[in-house]
Amino acid sequence: MPVTRPRAILFDCDGVLADSEALAAQVVADDLAGRGFPVTPELCQDVFLGRAVPDMVAVIEQRFGRVPDDWPAQIGRALTRRMAEEVVPVPGAMQALRRLAASGIPLACASNSSRAELSAKLARLGVAELFQGRVFSFEDVDRPKPYPDIYAAAAASCGAAPADCVVVEDSLPGIRAGIAAGCRVLALVWELPEALLRAQGAEPFRHMDELPGLLGVA
Ligand SMILES: [Mg+2]
Repeated sequence: MPVTRPRAILFDCDGVLADSEALAAQVVADDLAGRGFPVTPELCQDVFLGRAVPDMVAVIEQRFGRVPDDWPAQIGRALTRRMAEEVVPVPGAMQALRRLAASGIPLACASNSSRAELSAKLARLGVAELFQGRVFSFEDVDRPKPYPDIYAAAAASCGAAPADCVVVEDSLPGIRAGIAAGCRVLALVWELPEALLRAQGAEPFRHMDELPGLLGVA
């Protein structure tokens, strides 16, 4: 892939910075199993990877049954508490992030998490300050990923046109959001196979160690 130094780098959080998807799937599976629904963490990870909590409700009700109206708030509190205490970084992500921040390229974080959950993860990883306030939750825009709103907002916060930004993603809704915003999308091969990421228009890479070099940062 071409080595072009971008005007800004827009990071997804889950599966790119935070190794959080398995923990999130466990929290959701525990909740739904407690309601008597036949779910496993593996099923939750397959069905919900990259989705915002409000977008999960329709899927749950279609496949399993009713959840209370305040389920998004309930699961949001559980996710925030567990992430604040337990989440760990994706291998190589913290080193890559610090090298990219030191290069002077503006960084932003754009996640389908709630504000509270996203803040908890970035605080636990110790990298919140590297984004200098350019942190976007689905709550900050009209529509979550796969719509382009969150990456459009993140690019604007960096003072960059989307076409000059690189998005770093791992999920299908996230890749679609980045492509729809008009960004170049690099996708970490993490939960999903490389061919599937490529078919969505992303450029796959295999380890976060590679990212600075791919973006022209030595
Ligand atoms: Mg992700």
